[in-house]
Amino acid sequence: MEPFKYHVTQHKDGTYSVGVSIDQGYMTPDDFLVLAQLAKKHQVSTLMATTAKKISFMDVTEQAVNPLWEDLEQAFGNRLCFPKGKIIVCPGSRFCKFATPGKDNHALGRKIERISQAHDAGKIKVGVSCCPLGCAMPRVRDLGVLATAKGWMLTIGGNGGAKPGVGQVIAQDLSEEALLELLDKVYQYFQDNKTGKERTIRTVERLGIEHLKAAVLN
Ligand code: SF4
Repeated sequence: MEPFKYHVTQHKDGTYSVGVSIDQGYMTPDDFLVLAQLAKKHQVSTLMATTAKKISFMDVTEQAVNPLWEDLEQAFGNRLCFPKGKIIVCPGSRFCKFATPGKDNHALGRKIERISQAHDAGKIKVGVSCCPLGCAMPRVRDLGVLATAKGWMLTIGGNGGAKPGVGQVIAQDLSEEALLELLDKVYQYFQDNKTGKERTIRTVERLGIEHLKAAVLN
């Protein structure tokens, strides 16, 4: 059996879930028709909308995983998102009347995706919200990005798991360029300092927030 093209999750019955992110989860009606046709073609009985705004094909047979990915690539091309970890963006700049003027959290999400791909920092969830209300739940993500009238804010170390925690504000009033430079350093920091499958909140607890700040802030 050839290796799978992309990450999949195996289920208890031996089938796999294939989670696909198309334009960060903001899709057209025709996109949904294509997804439904591919589900039928590959004999998938259940589709799930995930918390990361992906559509997950839930019961894909081993033999169908790579053909399904090939069909998805052909249908959606570079609209497919492949962040390392997860990047969740709120409706913000495309749809929401509360979005901070002049901020584009959707374009920012794709830029953060490229930074994530350039590092090997393990499981990092990012919430990118276009106003302080935080509908992408940035404060309980490993990395939280929020737009304010003065610029972008970054929080680190949020977690919604068994031992939940709220992310700490690391920097605020940042330009987009400054935020992206900082995020590059933050991914590098966790690449260098995380152990095993440790989440960011545990790394920060182990090494201390000042250790992180000294490494990523000038
Ligand atoms: S975080 Fe703000 S901009 Fe984003 S969806 Fe919520 S209210 Fe709208």
